[in-house]
Amino acid sequence: MQKLANDRVMVLASEDGRTLRIVDLVRGTVWEQDGRSLFAESTSDRATKRESLRPCGAKAAGAHGIEIDYETDNARARLSLSLRDDGVVARMPLPEQGHVTSLTLPGSFVPVSEPRKYLLPIMQGMLWDGRGEAFELDLHEAWHMGFSMPMFGCMGSSGALLTVAETADDLTWWLGKDREGRSWCTPWHRSSLGAVRYERAVCLYPTDAGIVAVAKRYRRLVRDAGRFLGWEEKIEARPSLERLFGALMCFIGYCRDDVDYAAACRKLKSAGFERALVYPARFNVYHPGFAMGGLPPIDVSEEQIRQICGLGYDIAPWTWLNEGLDREDIRSAFRKEPTGRALPHWEIDGQQWYLCCSSTLPAAYRKSLGGAASGMTWDHFDVITCATVGECYAADHPGHAGHAEPRTEDRAHLRKLLHSAQFSVPGGKAISSESFNDAYSRECDIMSVKAWPQYGAWLFWPVPLTMLVYHDSIIHSWWEQHSYNNHQRGRINAPFYQYGGGRARTQAALDALTGSPPDVFPFGTNYAYDAGEGSKTYAYRMRLEDPEVQFALATALPVAQLHRRIGKQEMVHFDFLSEDGYVQESAFADGTHIVANFANCARAASPALDAIHSESWAEAR
Ligand SMILES: [Zn+2]
Repeated sequence: MQKLANDRVMVLASEDGRTLRIVDLVRGTVWEQDGRSLFAESTSDRATKRESLRPCGAKAAGAHGIEIDYETDNARARLSLSLRDDGVVARMPLPEQGHVTSLTLPGSFVPVSEPRKYLLPIMQGMLWDGRGEAFELDLHEAWHMGFSMPMFGCMGSSGALLTVAETADDLTWWLGKDREGRSWCTPWHRSSLGAVRYERAVCLYPTDAGIVAVAKRYRRLVRDAGRFLGWEEKIEARPSLERLFGALMCFIGYCRDDVDYAAACRKLKSAGFERALVYPARFNVYHPGFAMGGLPPIDVSEEQIRQICGLGYDIAPWTWLNEGLDREDIRSAFRKEPTGRALPHWEIDGQQWYLCCSSTLPAAYRKSLGGAASGMTWDHFDVITCATVGECYAADHPGHAGHAEPRTEDRAHLRKLLHSAQFSVPGGKAISSESFNDAYSRECDIMSVKAWPQYGAWLFWPVPLTMLVYHDSIIHSWWEQHSYNNHQRGRINAPFYQYGGGRARTQAALDALTGSPPDVFPFGTNYAYDAGEGSKTYAYRMRLEDPEVQFALATALPVAQLHRRIGKQEMVHFDFLSEDGYVQESAFADGTHIVANFANCARAASPALDAIHSESWAEAR
């Protein structure tokens, strides 16, 4: 038996490497590696093969390490283990033999003789207790339904185990359940430029059982890594961010409309909204000559922008530079596949956009500041944090001259882009983008996409994991198509949960529970997709006087007022108050205590509240 131990954690490996355990010496929980979760992929003769990794022995590596070697018919891999004060570091050095393109070490660890639940970083966070039929999910970074943070938790009854990928640029989380009822979740280290290419590292930290404990351990890691910027620190550097607190997220549609935007904003102000984040006012793109739902992009006049800012509101363009239409002047910036082919991406109504290499974006953004982005007080970047990072094989891009660009380098350009945008106007400006993705935790102030709070028979239960980590640093808002009153993009069915807009009461209750700003589409024109017609679009419009808009605004106002008060506070507590999950409570560092009922009937809530109505929230005193 090989053994590593300090006063908090112990690692035990059998000599044959088949049994690997992490023992939590504080809580007594024993975590065992699931050998069936170990795989490697390798290529030979251009075919990729996935094979089980077989352990072939564990040995001591100096006084403070254990090494376990693995093999498949075509490849070899090594797991190198060492200790931190309260955790275990698992390193996967570069495989010596075989063309290994991906591997799942150190695999899934599950508690011995205890039930388990998984805390998953999907959207705002999901809790899965292992129910359901057999399935497999491979979570990529962002992309709405992928992972929002490079971590997950497995929770037993006596303790939990937080797994964090220290190398997360070429990573997926692979989770599932087989027909025998065995469940797993493991890192899957993916290829970088066609190979494993660099050493991968994962850390495992035993914590107390519970969502809050796992989230707070991860939060400390983010802080220790210098990737956490609190609101006070942000506001000191960019005073304009003070206006985020108490604001209405105010989407006004992608398409041109004849509505008087400034007059409509004045009415919002009269209705009690002291602050608003209005977007998009214009399209900040390479070539504006395209149509959405048959209409050109919105283009609010300079005078109207001036008047809207004069109300104390903030206004943003739709900065969409990560891809462009196929035009001579930007073709050289297109991201390239190994074959040299440009990558088609967004498409509507027969118009095709191509991905641009991230190395070209900081300069393209600087150039745009004097154009469509001028006069704006915050900036929204379309899908930069959601679907942009990638590899580029163009041989002639000055940003990575002479070599193909891996995702890690590509991301550095994106961080530079967003960081420079923060300071592109006096007083600084807020930066937002799509999908919550904490690879950009220092660069973004608002990130988006949340699931509907639905519990009971739903397999994945949304929980405020991102906000337990980041509430005092980043706003987690709704996808722009999912305002309280916007049902046009309908209900999106994800595996085991749903997301969408148009459910004002439920969405407001979730925003109150998590101290987030409300989100309404009060006026303007937008496009949606014709059912069953692929990328064919149609336009629809909202007006302030619409009863759905008025209802959404009335629902939103108290949420905005709450956000003004608690938006900068750390979220310190979350719990379910009912067995079926529908009644929940949260608390913030200033003592604010919120109870929400997401059920469609009234419920007794807590000793602090007699009852709360269906789909509503209340502050407990
Ligand atoms: Zn490139």
